Amino acid sequence: MTFRLHAHGVAAILLDIEGTTTPIAFVHEVLFPYARARLHAYLRARAAEDEMRDALATLRIEWQEDARTQQEPPPWALADIPAAARYLEWLMDRDRKSPGLKRLQGEIWAEGYRDGTLRGEVFADVPPALRRWRAATIDVAIYSSGSVFAQKLLFSTTTYGDLTAWLTGFFDTAVGLKTAAASYRSIAASIGCEASRILFLSDAPAELDAAATAGCQTLLAVRPGNQPVETLPAGVVRSFDEIEL
Ligand SMILES: [Mg+2]
Repeated sequence: MTFRLHAHGVAAILLDIEGTTTPIAFVHEVLFPYARARLHAYLRARAAEDEMRDALATLRIEWQEDARTQQEPPPWALADIPAAARYLEWLMDRDRKSPGLKRLQGEIWAEGYRDGTLRGEVFADVPPALRRWRAATIDVAIYSSGSVFAQKLLFSTTTYGDLTAWLTGFFDTAVGLKTAAASYRSIAASIGCEASRILFLSDAPAELDAAATAGCQTLLAVRPGNQPVETLPAGVVRSFDEIEL
């Protein structure tokens, strides 16, 4: 089924990454293991740097909160790098949206993207769609729980080249959770566009629900490797090619 944008007066398209522009496997089987494998060495190599001390101090506050609320994080005496690495692994095992973890993961990925051992992955229909939409003067923004820093790294290093020139905005959880309607209202205000003229694409029904509550139009991305969705909504796309201008 083809979704016709013109009929809906879409002025901006907002894209989720994981499961929408990018295979979930890239995040879980490439990015996460990449950071995990390098974490210990990365912490050790930079332990004396002010920035790393600052990152670990922030992380330590999270650890104290976990210890206080009896989540039983692994023991961590201060200035113990292997213990800090173990706590970070513990956070990764739980897929925690931890600011301290995200910051360090982002720094490790940045090194990999810079030296070419990592390349951003997107589905083949994504680059031509971005070009088409921009040619039609539609804003195209990203909204992902990965940091804006990590988003830009991913889209600037794809096998299709640097796609950031086609993207007009980047949003992460600094605007709020992806399952909160208020986040989409903030993004609409930031883009300078009514929510009703924003089309949000994601593989997560809860995110689509939040965006719809804010007044956005929504489409569910069904991509290879995504979790099956129990009840498919009216608007479903398997490729961005199905979104016709
Ligand atoms: Mg997703």
